[in-house]
Amino acid sequence: MTVGQQTADETATPARGWGLNTWDSPWLNFKFLLGVAIVGLILLFGLLGPLFWDTDLAYTGAGPLNKPPVWQEGGLPEHPLGTESNGRDMLAQLILATPSSLKVGFLAAIIGMGIGMVLGSVAGYVGGWWDHVIRTLSDSAVTIPALVVLVVIASYVQMTDTTAMALILAAFAWPGPTRLVRSQILTLRERSYVRMAHLSGAPALEIMFVEMLPNMLPWLAASLTGGISVAILGATGLEVLGLGPTRVPSLGLIINQATTNAALVRGLVWWWLPPIIILMVIFVGFFLMTIGLDEIANPRIRQFSSSRRERSAAGEAPPVEHMDGGSAAGRDAALEVDDLHVHYFTPRGEVIAANGVDFSVRKGEILGLVGESGCGKTTVAMAILQVVQAPGRIVQGEVRIEDQDLVSLSGKELREVRWRDLALVPQGAMNSLNPVTPIREQMGDAILAHENIGRVELEQRILGLLNDVGLPERVINMYPHELSGGMKQRVCIAMAIALNPQVIIADEPTSALDVVVQRVVAQTLLEVKDRLGVSMVMIGHDMGLQAQLVDRIAVMYAGNLVEVVPVESAFSEPLHPYTQLLIESIPSIKERKPLNVTEGLTHDLRNPPPGCIFQFRCQHVEQICRERRPDLVERDDDHLVACWLYEPERHALIELEEA
Ligand code: SF4
Repeated sequence: MTVGQQTADETATPARGWGLNTWDSPWLNFKFLLGVAIVGLILLFGLLGPLFWDTDLAYTGAGPLNKPPVWQEGGLPEHPLGTESNGRDMLAQLILATPSSLKVGFLAAIIGMGIGMVLGSVAGYVGGWWDHVIRTLSDSAVTIPALVVLVVIASYVQMTDTTAMALILAAFAWPGPTRLVRSQILTLRERSYVRMAHLSGAPALEIMFVEMLPNMLPWLAASLTGGISVAILGATGLEVLGLGPTRVPSLGLIINQATTNAALVRGLVWWWLPPIIILMVIFVGFFLMTIGLDEIANPRIRQFSSSRRERSAAGEAPPVEHMDGGSAAGRDAALEVDDLHVHYFTPRGEVIAANGVDFSVRKGEILGLVGESGCGKTTVAMAILQVVQAPGRIVQGEVRIEDQDLVSLSGKELREVRWRDLALVPQGAMNSLNPVTPIREQMGDAILAHENIGRVELEQRILGLLNDVGLPERVINMYPHELSGGMKQRVCIAMAIALNPQVIIADEPTSALDVVVQRVVAQTLLEVKDRLGVSMVMIGHDMGLQAQLVDRIAVMYAGNLVEVVPVESAFSEPLHPYTQLLIESIPSIKERKPLNVTEGLTHDLRNPPPGCIFQFRCQHVEQICRERRPDLVERDDDHLVACWLYEPERHALIELEEA
């Protein structure tokens, strides 16, 4: 199969998206819609009521006193819900009071949400002491008994209208949204698509509003609807206590007047019960909206349909032909990593994640960077991209592309280099694309961050890139969840090659994909490399995949490079004992053999031992291995290894010197 061909799921009719206009949109959640309908009806009652009913009847002396509703004996048709002790029409009062109560809730919750979004964004994105101060304030604020404080404030402050009341309520409505926005930003900023946007040079505000905010919307909406309910409850509580505005009709004020006029004991049920029923219906409506939005915010709902398509793709995708990695020996270096040291400064000590890593990637070459989990290969990749996350830091070394040391570049200079010279195909494509942004925009943003081109040219460019990775043109208008895992990963590859970079870092690009799709993605990478002549660092631990793709393999163990070897030699004559164990541990379907497990544990990365870092797990360990660190030296043509077994002369010389 070639890149131009498509897997079965790619040729199938695409599923509809989850935008608001589509039938399978998660926004069409039954509970959410029922809640919207209930709140909408209540709103319509308040807003359209004055068009159909004379609201002047809501004022004192407008009608007879204490008349029951029309369906009870003595009720009057001109007062269908009855009148109270001051002759006011109950229906007219409810029509005026309902929007008033809703207005307080909406205003207070929106103001609180606005404050929370600003503070939460600053705390989550800027961090540092801003985060410390805002977190302390919001954590302290939630411990304050809001209703008690509100009662005290309302006793001293004369609230003349609903806006004043909403402002006071908003003072207690911001901590929840602040904490929510902060935690969401802290989560989202680690997502691959946010890091991709950062790498592509997008400014912070654009990342915030384009990449993060749309993904927070369901949570923010759920918080807002919950906040409206709480604000209405707070306002009603104050009104029932007689602490709200008295000149503006509200549901709480009606209950207050019914209570003070002993409506309960006098049997005037129609006075106090209707406002309570309306309040309960409002709460039920907002409650349904909130839990509906919670379900929408749950990502499992979004993943369901795409994971189903993913499974079907596994069974239908055609097999791929054998891949030839080719040779790259003798070509110039596109990327040079020189004596790279990366340390993580944790509260428990300094973790040495990369310890003097040295390698180069030749032009048009794929270098595989392999090793077990935690060996430092992803740290090295992040260090090459200059995006090592705190508490990690590059403490020494250089990363050069065309003699330009990336470690010494400023943030602005790095933004120009990334994507243009150095691009990333991230791990886990499902998290690497923004789920609420169509592919057209995501690819377009990456290009426009570096080039100023028109709309038509941009579209042609995107279509060309999709074609380069074997995706149909319709993908340009699709959302990530409409694509299979393999298609998403190919979109990531298309984005990586958008600016013709010299070097691509592919961070386990086939992880979390089924084996057939893995091979399709791998072949796409290989064809892209052959066509564009780009160099790649392919990070992974699947030795079988590495065998088919890469030109040379660099083996890492505990932050150290222990062997760099042409791919054929890695499998036919691995030299380092750790590489030998890695190769032996590959399961075979041809030969029944016990699974070869690498015994022992890696040493504590905070305290590397003197001597060879593999000494605790090595079957060939000698005294010198415990005392002196072996250098990475060339043993055969293009084959480097760090092991005393292959330095007998130097070993003997050292023994002689010591004697
Ligand atoms: S240097 Fe010694 S301990 Fe290290 S891998 Fe070689 S033989 Fe084993």
